[in-house]
Amino acid sequence: LPVGIGKANQILKNASRSTQPSSTGKITGVNAVVLGEALASEDDELVFPNDDFSRQALVPSLEKYLEMYKWSVEDPAGFWSGIASQFYWKQKWGQPVFSENFDFRKGNIKIEWFRGGITNICYNCLDRNVESGNGDKIAIYWEPNDPGSQDSLTYSQLLQSVCQLANYLKDKGVKKGDAVVIYLPMIMELPIAMLACARIGALHSVVFAGFSAESLAQRIVDSKPKIVITCNAVNRGSKVITLIDIVDAALIESAKTGISVDLCLTYENKSAMKRESTKWQEGRDVWWQDVVPKYPTTCEVEWVDAEDPLFLLYTSGSTGKPKGVLHTTGGYMVYTATTFKYAFDYKPSDIYWCTADCGWITGHSYVTYGPLLNGATVVIFEGALNYPDYGRCWDIVEKFKVTIFQAAPTLVRSLIRAGVEYVTRYPRKSLRVLASAGEPINPSTWRWLFNVVGDSRCPISDTWWQTETGGCMITPLPGAWPQKPGSATFPFFGIQPVIVNEKGAEIEGECSGYLCVKSSWPGAFRTLYGDHERYETTYFKPFPGYYFSGDGCRRDKDGYYWLTGRVDDVINVSGRRIGTEEVESALVSHPQCAEAAVVGIEHEVKGQGVYAFVTLVEGVSYSEELRKSLILTVRNKIGAFAAPDKIHWAPDLPKTRSGKIMRRILRKIASRQLHELGDTSTLADPNVVEQLIALADR
Ligand code: ATP
Ligand code: MG
Repeated sequence: LPVGIGKANQILKNASRSTQPSSTGKITGVNAVVLGEALASEDDELVFPNDDFSRQALVPSLEKYLEMYKWSVEDPAGFWSGIASQFYWKQKWGQPVFSENFDFRKGNIKIEWFRGGITNICYNCLDRNVESGNGDKIAIYWEPNDPGSQDSLTYSQLLQSVCQLANYLKDKGVKKGDAVVIYLPMIMELPIAMLACARIGALHSVVFAGFSAESLAQRIVDSKPKIVITCNAVNRGSKVITLIDIVDAALIESAKTGISVDLCLTYENKSAMKRESTKWQEGRDVWWQDVVPKYPTTCEVEWVDAEDPLFLLYTSGSTGKPKGVLHTTGGYMVYTATTFKYAFDYKPSDIYWCTADCGWITGHSYVTYGPLLNGATVVIFEGALNYPDYGRCWDIVEKFKVTIFQAAPTLVRSLIRAGVEYVTRYPRKSLRVLASAGEPINPSTWRWLFNVVGDSRCPISDTWWQTETGGCMITPLPGAWPQKPGSATFPFFGIQPVIVNEKGAEIEGECSGYLCVKSSWPGAFRTLYGDHERYETTYFKPFPGYYFSGDGCRRDKDGYYWLTGRVDDVINVSGRRIGTEEVESALVSHPQCAEAAVVGIEHEVKGQGVYAFVTLVEGVSYSEELRKSLILTVRNKIGAFAAPDKIHWAPDLPKTRSGKIMRRILRKIASRQLHELGDTSTLADPNVVEQLIALADR
């Protein structure tokens, strides 16, 4: 067993259950119940699942987890074969079940799972569920931007829609191995398009429909699609965004580099824009509604090898040129289905809602594939989560009686900022599991989610993973063990995380360093599209013999893992290494701070200084007194050495479209290199940058 877990077992057995927060009672306002404040450190705060939850959980105890975990790492071939057998394979995989080379010194990096197995993920998501009698079960509930209506598809209906589109694509010459770019918002046609590609063995490359024409063009040039699938426009909050104009601009741009696309299948999203008012490129643009429904509702499956590519997805770009992460079929299928089931304690009666967009990996693995492979009912939401107001999330939870709710920490922080009354207005009784992904969730944000949203009854799955990993890697299993707010806790089955030092040597016990993984898992990405060398250089060369995540991590005395942010976000103050995440967490624990982003700046004496951008809770205004009190909080929580040298008031922070803070831009603002801001086109709202610059010397 990896270091720490065995030990955790012992410690947890001895731990008293007195910290169980459900007994601490009432919530009277944000931060009203700040658990663990009296404890020596956050490492000591154990939040126990309640017994009723554990009793019904898929993994009811740490003992059961340890038993399964042990099996998964000692006999990965046996463990994963057993799970893979629950899916439909036209032909079973050969031997060995997996093969890998994680060490570039021994040759090219290579990962393969279930090679020789012939299957199809769309078949396993849809046909298999229909054939087993679940055809009439709702696969997707759709909630439009404007409240008041809804739509849905059963498994049978979804299968029929997917088949029609698959037939259309085939008819237009899309073949196995061809790429299709999908630039769609969260309407049901998005998962339909993904599944139709998978059905015929084409690779989908979904581009988040918030990306600019320039970013879309960059991805089109890289993946050279046969066809682009889009829609004319979408409602987002009170705005209408004309997607087809963006596609048009992107295609003009990409044609300049010799990559031309002659077919653009366009869904008419009537509630946002009628076809009469849509700018149209005759000969290239085709209305989905005019052609797709004419095709048959059944479509032969293209059987593919487990190692045939399934999709390409470009990472969010918070750290430079986007990387085309490539996932293959069999391993990804087995891994997303299994992580979905266990990380969220999924039961067939659940209604699952993940707020992520299918433009990100979370939307691939936990809106589309993971849930559908399990025959689950998912909710898809088209609009903005604060429209018409900040209560929208809970309105949707109430409407569909959502039981498992997953969101990004950035959303949770914006809800905290808006105020607790938006949450408590709704009963939320259906909720039983909460989940978070994409960023570290600070302990105070965690507690708010737990206490306010979950009424101190729902475990939180704080899932650490990456586009590259396909599915959750380090995550709580709800009900199985006590959580620590802000810790992703323990590795998923089959995952062997290791923490290495600067020299690449594994360090054991309580420690912090670089987070790596020791050997492969089925959901691992196989290459960067068209650039295997960059794949090896970025992920396998920094620490020979390991997959390097790029993230820093700490393991505490009980073996719990704490993600400390990207390693390039570490600040070195007078020789002390401080994770930006730690300082941000301390700032956010201040009741008047809604969000914080910390970067390093050059400092004459200390080498680097701490520069903090701070967003305040709605209704609070900036003052000198507040500035002092924020600095004091950091001094008290971490130490004087980490106290921010500068606090920069930030009404908003520059974020990527997936809600992640773009630190490279903040670094430039902090060091006043304002002419070197670089590409800001992937920002959700580029105006934020000007606003920040204007406030720089306040
Ligand atoms: P890029 O690689 O282009 O900069 P990205 O890393 O933001 O983009 P993703 O693959 O979506 O794109 O995000 C993975 C990263 O998100 C992780 O490496 C980690 O830094 C962060 N992350 C995800 N989940 C968690 C979590 N539960 N706790 C802490 N950090 C997390
Ligand atoms: Mg990344």
